[in-house]
Amino acid sequence: MSNKLLTLWRYLRTPKKFKSRAQIEKWQRKRVAKHIKFVRKNSVFYANHWQGLGDEDWQKFPLVNKALMMDNLENLLTIDLDLEEAYSIAKSAEITRDFSPHIGDISIGFSSGTSGSRGVHVVSDNEGSNWAGFMLARGLGSSILGKHHVALFLRANSNNYEKINSKRIKFSFFDLLKPMEQLQKEVEIANPTELIAPPSVLRYLADNNCKINPKRIISAAEVLDPIDEKIISEYFSQIVHQFYTSTEGEMAATCEFGTLHLNESIMHIGKQWVDEENGLFHPILTDFMRTTQPIIRYLQNDILVLQKEGCKCGDARTAISQVMGRSDDVFYLQKNNSDEFEPIVPDFIRRAVMRLNPKIEAYHAIQKSRSKIEIGLQPTNLDPLDFSGFEELFKEKNVRKAELIITEHSHIPSTNKLRRIYRECEME
Ligand SMILES: [Zn+2]
Repeated sequence: MSNKLLTLWRYLRTPKKFKSRAQIEKWQRKRVAKHIKFVRKNSVFYANHWQGLGDEDWQKFPLVNKALMMDNLENLLTIDLDLEEAYSIAKSAEITRDFSPHIGDISIGFSSGTSGSRGVHVVSDNEGSNWAGFMLARGLGSSILGKHHVALFLRANSNNYEKINSKRIKFSFFDLLKPMEQLQKEVEIANPTELIAPPSVLRYLADNNCKINPKRIISAAEVLDPIDEKIISEYFSQIVHQFYTSTEGEMAATCEFGTLHLNESIMHIGKQWVDEENGLFHPILTDFMRTTQPIIRYLQNDILVLQKEGCKCGDARTAISQVMGRSDDVFYLQKNNSDEFEPIVPDFIRRAVMRLNPKIEAYHAIQKSRSKIEIGLQPTNLDPLDFSGFEELFKEKNVRKAELIITEHSHIPSTNKLRRIYRECEME
């Protein structure tokens, strides 16, 4: 099958909705079973990792994480690949912004990790085409048969999209290395029907009165903070849709009501509970579409929050009320009368920050040390600042008061990810 056909096929084969959990389970069961069999046969690493357990016990397979995956990448891949060569190709592609780092029909990219070791991801052309079709199915509001001009603001490899340019669907790629002012002019000339960009870019376009009329806006690649969602949504007079993706896969997308649903048609997502009562968990990904670099029982360090009630759209795919961010976005503060530390998820920090002053337009909060939190605010010199949100938080969590350092916030969208809340200090 040609790549364009494969994309179209995947687009048509991607269910728009699932009626019941039973239907999802049935869909997954077949595909997972076939995939596990393939991976055991073709990946030396996984075959060893699963020794002693049968395919039917796949939900008991030991977990995999990023460090384990990167340490064993060559053996984990189901193809022969010279990793040294792959690394150097991916590196030079990043420098030259040549978005076709290929060895044969394999493309290689670095993950845009925000901290720690950077990941490498290896994808075949077929997987790429499949992926593009899937993203179209989840992303385009109206039929693929209408005319679409999709504008993509990305900081990483995107040659999957360019391949599917056709009479009806056109993709324009906007490289975040260029100055935002120039990118805004270019996107105004393009006037796309669909706009896919990190929320920091969408926010910039809204703040700078960008003159475009997209039918659909999709936030991708960064966590969408409610403060940005509100302003973007108001400016463009529409719901802000989301693609929630990571290097490890396309984890969720929004329905017509703007609710994130897990992409359970391409992966099984298990839960490692962080706080079961409140529905907080780390996802355990088993992606049954990725064959070159299989992702099986992969523990991801994002924290997701289950939506308690189902979604009005009627889709049985698991609804997520919020992506709370990565583990290193969680603050740790010292407990009262103890040497131990209490985890504080970013949402609590965000709420406390927002209570400082009702006129806050943008912010960041960084845990600088075990007892210091820097808070950057925009506009500056807001007065008065109400610290009761933080005081209540410290009291409720029974932790020692952290020193709060107020500074200014500014962020210009670029290849650097915007992270509003994160921890800079190591806790180990
Ligand atoms: Zn929904």
